[in-house]
Amino acid sequence: MKHEKTLSDTLANNRRSSYSGVSMCEDDDCLDAMTDNEPQIIETLSSAVTTILGGLGENPEREGLLKTPERVAKSLRFLTKGYRENPEELLKKAVFKESYDEMVLVKDIELFSMCEHHMLPFFGKAHVAYIPDGKIVGLSKIARVVEVYARRLQVQERLTQQIRDAIQDVLNPKGVGVIIEAKHMCMVMRGVEKQNSVTTTSAMSGEFISSPSTRSEFLRLIHNRS
Ligand SMILES: [Zn+2]
Repeated sequence: MKHEKTLSDTLANNRRSSYSGVSMCEDDDCLDAMTDNEPQIIETLSSAVTTILGGLGENPEREGLLKTPERVAKSLRFLTKGYRENPEELLKKAVFKESYDEMVLVKDIELFSMCEHHMLPFFGKAHVAYIPDGKIVGLSKIARVVEVYARRLQVQERLTQQIRDAIQDVLNPKGVGVIIEAKHMCMVMRGVEKQNSVTTTSAMSGEFISSPSTRSEFLRLIHNRS
């Protein structure tokens, strides 16, 4: 518990710093929170990409590469847009009082992220479950929380814990279970490991830790591919 608190404090600090100078979109389905100085950011990133192209021995002036720096810059901004969104605020907008107290599971949530060590994609599926304690949340918001954390530079382990902590903090349910299964292009493309290896991570809280039967029901439901 102590560890979780520290982690969410860190997150809160990170969020505060990434939000400075950012005008957040009020609409919770708005995926493009833009900063006031977006053109400046694109320019800075583009020039860095030009440097990278030169460093690779390419000629950034040749026709095929002329617009590449700007395209890469815009693509990177999209792939990291999760920095400009607040997952806990997003959840808070869709919390309802409800006495349902069985497990709620959203499985096979598609996930695309980028590893912070190589800035290469990793992708796969997230399975998120919780046991309500008087409050439930709109199901689509669970998938959105996965997306917001995934659209940042990540390690799979931290991504898994951040999703658990956001749901735990906002809903205060009897427990949260998160499992992510993903393929990492930094392993596949660089030939470090077998090409088809899948990395599985899990983060649990409450009854998912204290009750073996809850945990095994969670695992059984995830792998029930009927
Ligand atoms: Zn990597």
